Amino acid sequence: MNCIFCKIVAGEIPCDKVYEDDKVVCFNDIAPQAPIHVLVVPKKHVANILELSDDKDMLNDISNGIKNVAKELGIDQSGFRTVINTGKDGGQTVDHLHFHILAGKVFGENFG
Ligand code: 5GP
Ligand code: ZN
Repeated sequence: MNCIFCKIVAGEIPCDKVYEDDKVVCFNDIAPQAPIHVLVVPKKHVANILELSDDKDMLNDISNGIKNVAKELGIDQSGFRTVINTGKDGGQTVDHLHFHILAGKVFGENFG
């Protein structure tokens, strides 16, 4: 499968890692849209959130990854925005489920 995030999980493409455990890898986005922009990526390939039904533990694993990234980067108190893009209209460009963590600025109430 020609999936860029599977290649990052496999170590075939380098990344700037923030946190990793046996279920997720979390790394800085190559084109950050905020002072802090980290991607939380499950190691198992799932195309998007609509495909999650097969793996009931994955959301817990991702949530655990988010908490560890927040602690590691010291944004667990100040807060952050979490974004999941799904499909064409959602702006998803990589078809391997990932959560964006955006922080280091104060976000407004609008999603744009
Ligand atoms: P999406 O648009 O699918 O929600 O998010 C994909 C994200 O992956 C984008 O923010 C993009 O900058 C990031 N990205 C794409 N290719 C790479 C890569 O090779 N390395 C890293 N670190 N980020 C990538
Ligand atoms: Zn993949």
